[in-house]
Amino acid sequence: MKEELKELYEKIPSFTCKENCGLCCGPILCKRPESEILNKQPKVKNQEVLDCPFLDENKRCSCYEVRPLVCRLFGAIEILKCPEGCKPDCFLTEDDVQSILAVYKKLGDDFLISNLGTF
Ligand code: SF4
Ligand code: SF4
Repeated sequence: MKEELKELYEKIPSFTCKENCGLCCGPILCKRPESEILNKQPKVKNQEVLDCPFLDENKRCSCYEVRPLVCRLFGAIEILKCPEGCKPDCFLTEDDVQSILAVYKKLGDDFLISNLGTF
């Protein structure tokens, strides 16, 4: 993984998803370096159009180690709380998020990855 992404990802507290409901796994927005990594991962077939192409049949992420920033932020900040109550020991603060996004924005264009392709 590119060092710039690794450094950003390490700033986000992780937590255990207890329910694997898949509700947080629809089409994903990411930056070019992330889309280049994700487009090399095998996609899961025979899903609903609005499922993320990496959501497997057990509602687990098939590309967990390289999932993009938006997936890591979900559940880690108060405005994106997991509806099932999964959360880290401590949410990121607004200042933390702004400083992560300030670096992230410099990584280039946004791409949408969905079951209809990458745009
Ligand atoms: S919404 Fe919560 S419980 Fe459901 S998959 Fe996402 S993190 Fe896990
Ligand atoms: S990349 Fe993984 S965590 Fe992110 S939306 Fe897709 S399945 Fe969910």
